[in-house]
Amino acid sequence: MDKNKYYCRIDGTIYNLKSIQQMIDSGEKTGPIYISLLEDYKLPEEYADRLTYYIYENNSIPADLDVAWEEILAKNVESRNIPSCPNCQSNNITVATRGYTFSRGIWGSNDPVNYCVKCGYKWEPRHPLKGL
Ligand SMILES: [Zn+2]
Repeated sequence: MDKNKYYCRIDGTIYNLKSIQQMIDSGEKTGPIYISLLEDYKLPEEYADRLTYYIYENNSIPADLDVAWEEILAKNVESRNIPSCPNCQSNNITVATRGYTFSRGIWGSNDPVNYCVKCGYKWEPRHPLKGL
């Protein structure tokens, strides 16, 4: 096991996310991981959202969240999968699934929901992460 794989640079600060790595290793869902990032690591919601999204997609912790997020955005732009928020036009969108929104807890639906990280607006797209 790479002993450094749970160190993550977030907005210039190195975080030791060992307990998050253990949650990933034990197959924990993203909801409890997100809550742990907020409550145990005191991450701002924006970064907790991004890191949870990365973990959801990759099942691992990035060495540098800002770099990883740029790569995610670049990849999504290439495949034209970046939606924009109907409320504020921000492209800083994440997707919540399986009854979670990452910020608000259980939402009562198994359908994917687009979530605007900037303004908090939520909507149910016809095509998740492909626009409205
Ligand atoms: Zn918005």
